[in-house]
Formats: sequence, C-alpha cells, structure tokens
Amino acid sequence: MGTQVVVVGAGFSGLAAALALARAGVRTRVLEARDRVAGRVLTRWLADGTQLDLGAQWVGPTQDRVNGLLARYRIATFPSAAHGTSAVLFPDGRHAGVPEDAGRVLALLDAYAERVDPAAPWTGPEAAEWDRTTLAGWLRTAAPDPATARYLGRLLAGGLLAAGPDEISLLQTAFYLRSGGGSRALLAMVGGAQQDRIVGGPPVLAEALAAALGPDAVRLGAPVRAIGQDDAGVVVHTDSERVEADAVVVALPPTLAGRIRYDPPLPPLRDALTQRMPMGSAIKVHAVYPEPFWRADGRSGVAFCLAGPVTETVDNSTPESPRGVLTAFSYGPEANALRRMSPQARQASLLDALATVVGPAAGRPEEFVEYDWSADEWTRGCFCGAPTLGSWCGYGPELRQPVGRVHWAGTETATRWAGYLDGAIEAGERAAAEILCRVDR
Ligand SMILES: Cc1cc2nc3c(=O)[nH]c(=O)nc-3n(C[C@H](O)[C@H](O)[C@H](O)COP(=O)(O)OP(=O)(O)OC[C@H]3O[C@@H](n4cnc5c(N)ncnc54)[C@H](O)[C@@H]3O)c2cc1C
Repeated sequence: MGTQVVVVGAGFSGLAAALALARAGVRTRVLEARDRVAGRVLTRWLADGTQLDLGAQWVGPTQDRVNGLLARYRIATFPSAAHGTSAVLFPDGRHAGVPEDAGRVLALLDAYAERVDPAAPWTGPEAAEWDRTTLAGWLRTAAPDPATARYLGRLLAGGLLAAGPDEISLLQTAFYLRSGGGSRALLAMVGGAQQDRIVGGPPVLAEALAAALGPDAVRLGAPVRAIGQDDAGVVVHTDSERVEADAVVVALPPTLAGRIRYDPPLPPLRDALTQRMPMGSAIKVHAVYPEPFWRADGRSGVAFCLAGPVTETVDNSTPESPRGVLTAFSYGPEANALRRMSPQARQASLLDALATVVGPAAGRPEEFVEYDWSADEWTRGCFCGAPTLGSWCGYGPELRQPVGRVHWAGTETATRWAGYLDGAIEAGERAAAEILCRVDR
C-alpha cells in the first residue's frame, strides 16, 4: 500500500500533522532533512550531565497543545530558575528600573492586539496603517520619552521576534500579542511563556511523537528538493528517492518552503509571501560555571539590558546539576554585529555583557556554548519567520491557503501561540484536518 500523505519536516509541526493523519488511518510518511527530529529544538548535554537547551526551551500556561502532549507522554516539566532579584540595566551596569510608563504603553498595545483577528490580521480597519508603521516609529509617538521607546523596542521586537524595532510592523507586533494572549502571557516568567522547562529537554517530546508514528514513518537525512503535482497526485523528490502520494504537508518556515522547487511553480502571491517572511536573528549562548554564584548575593541572573550586544539574560541552571548556567540572548542588529566578529571577539563581548549583569566572575566560565540557528541550513534563523512591513496586508491570505495538493504548516501559520512550540502543533493539526477532508480513507 502506497503513501497517501507526505509530510515535509519533522519539527513539532510536521510530527503533529503526521500523528493526526496516522491516527485517522492515513498512510503518512515524514521526510526530514536533518539526521534528527525536532527542528528548532536541540538539547546538548555536557559531560557532567548539565542540560543546555540550544533552541526552544520554555513552555507556559495556556499553551494547551504542548502541555497536553507533555501530559500524554508523561514528560515532566520543572519551573524556570527564579531566585533573587532581576534587573534592568544600563550598559555600564547601573540599574535603570522598568520605565514608569512602559506598562501604560504595553496596555495600549494589548488593546490594539484585541482588535486584530489572529486568523486574518490583514482585515480590520487599522490593518493597512499598522502594517506600514514600524514598531519603532509607533513607539516614538506613543511612548512618553526615548528611553521608554528604546526599552519597549528591545523588549518586543527583540525579545519576542528577535528583530530590531525598525524591522517589525505595528500590525505584526499586535498580531503576536494577540496570538499569545497578551503581553503578560508572552513576557512573564511565572504565569507566562517562560514559566517551565522540560525535563530531558524539548527534543524528548519530539522523539516521543516520532516513536508514536511507528518505525520507518520518519525518513531522516532526506531533504526535499522538489514537489510536483497534477490531477493524479503529488511526487516529492529527495536526493535519493521519489515518493508519490495524494497530498503533501510542507511543515517548514515559509522562507525554507520557498527554497523547494515546485512543478508547476507556486502561484505568484504564494511565492512572494515566502520571500517576505524572513526568519528572526537571535544568538543564544550559554556560559557554564561551577555553581550559580550570582544567587549568593541575591541576584537572579535575569536581566534586561537597555543597550549593548545582549538584550536578555536568564539563569538556566537545572535542579539536576550543581553547575550554574547563564544564558544570554542577542537580537536583530546586535546579533548581526556579533556575527561580523571573530569567534574570540564575540565571546569576549558576550562575557563582558554577562559580567555587567552578575559581576566579573561571569567573565570566566568553565564552558561557553553558542549555537547560531541563522547558520543552520535547515532553520536559517529564529525564533520564527515574520512578515516584513506591508506584507500581512499584501500577502497574508496566502499564508495557509493550500496550493492544489500542497498544504502549509509550521508555527508561522498558527493563529494561537504563533512562533512557539504550541503554535507549531496547532498548525500541524490544522493542516492534517484540511487533508482529512480530501483523502480517501
Ligand atoms: C533559540 C530558540 C529559542 C526558542 N525558544 C522557544 C521557547 O522557549 N518556547 C517555544 O515555544 N518556542 C521557542 N522557539 C520557537 C520554536 O522552536 C519553534 O516555534 C518551533 O520549534 C517550530 O516548529 P516547526 O515544526 O514549525 O518548525 P521547525 O522546528 O523549523 O521544523 C521544520 C523541520 O523541517 C526540516 N526541513 C527544513 N527544510 C527541509 C526540507 N527541504 N526537506 C525536509 N525537511 C526540511 C528541518 O530540519 C526541521 O526539522 C525558539 C526557537 C529557537 C531557535
């Protein structure tokens, strides 16, 4: 019996799609470019067992799909480290505090978000105006002073989308806030998207999904190069095989979906969309110390920096290991500036920033681990893809619209928790539901 549906990509979205199809009795085959499943999720274990989550790491309340799967496969979570006080810092280490009016501006943005339809952000009376307005431009008028505008630009464009505030539209910001349930749900640690981590690392959940699909359901090391379709079905080409099926789910970020060759070629608007949803640009590094020394003087290791190469730091130590792990995130233009440096200069710059947060001892880690997802051929940036200015209104309707027998998944196509693991699962299940309406079972 042949394959009925091919799923391209074994990230959370592709695996969720395949599982939903398989459960409905559809013969499904997943083709994955890498030699592993899980996509933008990767955990590295140091020799002593310290867990470093190099990609996605957090789950939180209201992320019902990912939490549901964790429960189904009996995978436990643990609370993110939260000891001592957090800081908002100037580059020289002086404490700045959260700008007084930041909450008021965030509340205004949350109110804007309420007016966005997460399934169709391009509709709505303000959509066109918000889509051509940068977040930075809006903040210049909505925030009472440049310091508040700068803080919120780094917090929202950087912390949520790994971009600069000049690169992100007001509409994308409002959509993202809406999709995640508001600024508090997105930004908070306790009670928000950064609340919990996964015992064993997030890949264990992807591996459980792949195992549930059964042996041979996922073909690793099989980058899809071309997809052909006609009235009879689809033909999906890897370097070594061609797989015929009734339909295909492409569970990739749009920009990677656009690198596959389609026959017939994608319609102009769908192809244009794939050219207008670049991935974010984040560098996430881990510095590992004999112990979380910063806790002794009451510091949490959690900081938000108003300037400099690092925007955010967190204490990523785990209960299982005595070692202390500080993780730093650099976003958008700052991350790009770091990429232009030599590895040694980049490390020095990042360690300087960590020393500003928790003191000079941060400059002397036992281990320093960086992973640049922008350099990874099968991701090319993170956390997710986001429409460029004007692109929600210009090309938004093409985001989920199937092209003949080709259906689109991936977290970028989600309406709830888009950009997150939870959104990836929603998108995969939605694409599977589309297909179930068309294949014979
Ligand atoms: C540093 C970082 C931190 C993050 N933090 C969080 C977090 O804390 N919480 C959270 O919820 N989310 C977080 N995210 C986002 C989260 O990782 C993604 O939303 C999610 O993993 C996307 O899943 P996906 O299946 O849509 O895409 P992907 O995971 O990108 O899956 C796509 C798959 O397709 C494969 N592929 C690509 N091209 C081809 C091809 N041509 N043929 C075959 N296969 C192909 C890829 O190898 C990959 O396995 C983070 C991401 C990063 C990188």
